[in-house]
Amino acid sequence: MCADSAVLLPKLREPDESEAVRFGTHGLSYARLASVAGEVAARVGGAKRVAVWADAAPENCAALVGALCAGAAVVPLNPKLGERELEHIVTDSEPELVLGATGFSAPSALSHVPVFEVSVEVAGRELPEEPASDSDALIVYTSGTTGMPKGVVLSRKAIRSNLDAVARAWEWTATDVLVHALPLFHVHGLILGLLGPLRVGGTLRHLVRFEPAGVADQLAGSGTMLFGVPTMYRRLADDAERDPDIARALGRARLLVSGSAALPAVEHRRIARLTGQRVVERYGMSETIMNCGVRASGDRRPGYVGTPFGGVELILVDDSGSRITVSDDETVGEILVSGPNLFREYLNRPEDTRAAFTDGWFRTGDMATRAPDGYIRIVGRRATDMIGSGGFRVGAGEVENVLLEHEAVSEVAVTGEYDPDLGQRIVAWVVPGRAEVSERELVEHVVGLLSSHKRPREVRFVRELPRNELGKIQKGKLDREWGALHA
Ligand code: ATP
Ligand code: MG
Repeated sequence: MCADSAVLLPKLREPDESEAVRFGTHGLSYARLASVAGEVAARVGGAKRVAVWADAAPENCAALVGALCAGAAVVPLNPKLGERELEHIVTDSEPELVLGATGFSAPSALSHVPVFEVSVEVAGRELPEEPASDSDALIVYTSGTTGMPKGVVLSRKAIRSNLDAVARAWEWTATDVLVHALPLFHVHGLILGLLGPLRVGGTLRHLVRFEPAGVADQLAGSGTMLFGVPTMYRRLADDAERDPDIARALGRARLLVSGSAALPAVEHRRIARLTGQRVVERYGMSETIMNCGVRASGDRRPGYVGTPFGGVELILVDDSGSRITVSDDETVGEILVSGPNLFREYLNRPEDTRAAFTDGWFRTGDMATRAPDGYIRIVGRRATDMIGSGGFRVGAGEVENVLLEHEAVSEVAVTGEYDPDLGQRIVAWVVPGRAEVSERELVEHVVGLLSSHKRPREVRFVRELPRNELGKIQKGKLDREWGALHA
């Protein structure tokens, strides 16, 4: 393993014929990736900032590697963004060049930016030496779960140090073949899922399109690790329930890793029951890359995201900002993080950047408890998941987990709504499963398992929940209009 190298991608300097990436059936060896990336680097020249039209394709790996080695900062663009959203990102980040796979068509928001189409058929060139300095590497836009996406500026050093810490925690080496189907424009799929394997000198097998059978095929073959989001694990579990071959393939993986959103405890247990394999949960965000995770050899407990990765300092603070020192798995506080993994700033948002830090600590906006053994349990986001009801503070996640244990509940989101008596009342948005269920039955189910003040005052049955491309529930969109349109 080439961890701890002062450059981000050490193996690209001494490339060989081993496979670096494969998208569907389309693979590139390290040698080929390096020479195509060399071509890209020549075109990037001295540009400071370039965008990559980041659909899942080997050309875009070469685009990313080439631009990084040329010393540019890369802005990965989500090709599914609407015109307005794309315009926001392009205007904000002002790329000098946009790279994309041959034949990609840049929409009008990019019409003023020169385009370079990357082809893996080119003769190729030598890859320039990657800058060893700590310049900017990536500008990743947040998922926009809680508002407009913000451009997060990540340095080369932040990415290097964090990937090395994660590699140590998961005993991740050049022999690992990572399987994933995540998009390449968020930290999860891009830093962990693409730069991760390239940094350790291993292999990425990208499925292009997520299908449980495709994941199973890879894991039944040479795949050793899977990175996914909870909605994927849910579909994997559904299929594993029907098909013992899928269950067996998942059971063979060295590590099944979940992140980006909370994996419901009930799904964790279901996967363990079906496959004999427990999912490893990790918690990260655009601004901090990976904060904590369960170690490869650690205790894989449902609902827990393990302990901080090497170099990451993590504390919990109460509402007044005082540090919580008890580790009792009960006391909820906001997670503050510091360490070499932290972002530099929100691009063009000095006010937001300032507001995000307290005495050098980054305020994540996520609420959690710490168990006596140091394990972190996320209870939700401060802004949307902490409900002040009748003088109590209720974490939406706790109620959601209990509702998901009911066989008639397929998906759920719990929100707080203004209530003149209670301050906020707890509302459960429920996508029903196969069985029939009444509102009363669900409320009684919660009361049987949690204190009565945590019961939903209203249950709204809907056909679907608003989710972004990582499957994260966008609670800001859950209003009466959504209820009416999706009833
Ligand atoms: P925005 O900041 O634009 O509202 P976002 O916070 O969803 O969107 P990301 O940076 O992609 O954008 O996601 C980070 C967030 O995802 C974390 O702050 C946390 O709320 C959530 N998250 C990530 N991993 C986990 C996990 N394992 N369990 C629970 N929540 C998680
Ligand atoms: Mg966020």
